[in-house]
Amino acid sequence: MPRSTGNVLAEILAERQRQDAKWGGQDHDPSTWLMVLAEEVGEANQAVLEMLFPTYDKRAAERGPRTLAEYRQELIQVAAVAVAAIESLDRQDQSPG
Ligand SMILES: [Mg+2]
Repeated sequence: MPRSTGNVLAEILAERQRQDAKWGGQDHDPSTWLMVLAEEVGEANQAVLEMLFPTYDKRAAERGPRTLAEYRQELIQVAAVAVAAIESLDRQDQSPG
C-alpha cells in the first residue's frame, strides 16, 4: 500500500527521535557526518545485496533472505541521519544567510 509523503516523513521523524534517545544530541564535523551517513547507505546496500544473493556468504545464508521491508527501513535510517547532519550543521554554522 503506498504511503503518503506525510506518513513517510512521520516515520523519519520517529527514527530521528529514536536516534536521539539512543545517542543523545550529536554534533560532528561534516566529514564525520558523511561517514555515518555512508555507513547507513552501506546497510541499505547490504540489505539489497542479501535479498538478491541470500547465500553470498555464510552469515547471510544463516540469517536467511532479506526483504524489501528491511531495505525500506534502512532508507528511513539514511534519511534520519541526513536530517540529523543538517540539524547539527545548523547548530554549528553561525554564518549569516
Ligand atoms: Mg541502518
